[in-house]
Amino acid sequence: MIGRKASILLVYTGGTIGMKQDPEKGTLVPFDFSQILDQVPELGKFAIRIDSVAFDPLIDSSDIEPSMWVRLADLILGHYDYYDGFVILHGTDTMAYSASALSFMLKGLTKPVIFTGSQLPIGVPRTDGKENLISSVEIASATDADGHALVPEVCICFGSLLLRGNRAVKESSEAFSAFISPNFPPLAEAGINIRYNTSAIRRPASWDTPLEIHSELDTRVAILKLHPGMTPEIVRHFLLGKETRAVIIETYGSGNAPARDWFLDIVRESSESGKILVNVTQCLNGGVDMDIYDNGRKLKDAGVVSGYDGTTESTLAKLFVLMGMTSDNETVKNALSQNLRGEILLS
Ligand code: ASP
Repeated sequence: MIGRKASILLVYTGGTIGMKQDPEKGTLVPFDFSQILDQVPELGKFAIRIDSVAFDPLIDSSDIEPSMWVRLADLILGHYDYYDGFVILHGTDTMAYSASALSFMLKGLTKPVIFTGSQLPIGVPRTDGKENLISSVEIASATDADGHALVPEVCICFGSLLLRGNRAVKESSEAFSAFISPNFPPLAEAGINIRYNTSAIRRPASWDTPLEIHSELDTRVAILKLHPGMTPEIVRHFLLGKETRAVIIETYGSGNAPARDWFLDIVRESSESGKILVNVTQCLNGGVDMDIYDNGRKLKDAGVVSGYDGTTESTLAKLFVLMGMTSDNETVKNALSQNLRGEILLS
């Protein structure tokens, strides 16, 4: 181990970090990836071998699709033995979805997979992209005294914070500190030094487990955000649609919903028809507890399962992966109540 140069695979999928202004359209469009490394000569100062690979075509992350998560997972699996860590450059808009998805798709991970990007393109003077990229590379190559990765998790590194990927949400479309993980502390903070919150970082059960990927994803999930003024027609459309296998219900507060008969009747009918209904709160902080209020309890009695303190992004990704693994909805419901990758705190 001693003296060996760390190696990182940098995967560029697109996003603002590598965009520049199209002179004709006036909008931001991706540019040739090789220029990114030219823009960050500081990376050459690390004793780290950095290889890179770019998606073709590069995408604005609003165009991300589960098939691209499979591509990313395959890429990591295919290069797993040759690199100490992976840095994924990705647009911020859907970064929390992608990081969540990869966290569930990669099983037995013992190496860092760090998503990062920027709010300003790397070529502009006040860019946040350089700092984000440099911190990500440093974190992805960091090891402990035994040579094991310090952060063997899928994370988002952004605006001086390292966050667990499946706990993160994009909070701001403006600020350089665009991401937070409201229900979980940062795994590291980059100041003068990078300070690791080692007690919060997940360790693998064994460092020798081979990496596996779950690449079957079932995307038949709808998300219903509750709001005053919902009509039976619209709720029925979400909860009873033939094409949906699961529905995430974004509820109020600690998991509450209207107790009106028509609403609960539709929920019951949906659940009895076999659909998976998961309760996730609209609140950024805290989670679901359907035993506090009568309105929450009614939802539970109607067959809705708790999403605990998970984010919508991570619950969606967890459903995609679990549903891809089995056609049995009861098995999926049981697995939803398990903390698989640090995504929920069971209460
Ligand atoms: N629209 C861009 C994207 O998500 C925004 C960004 O990168 O920050 O690809």
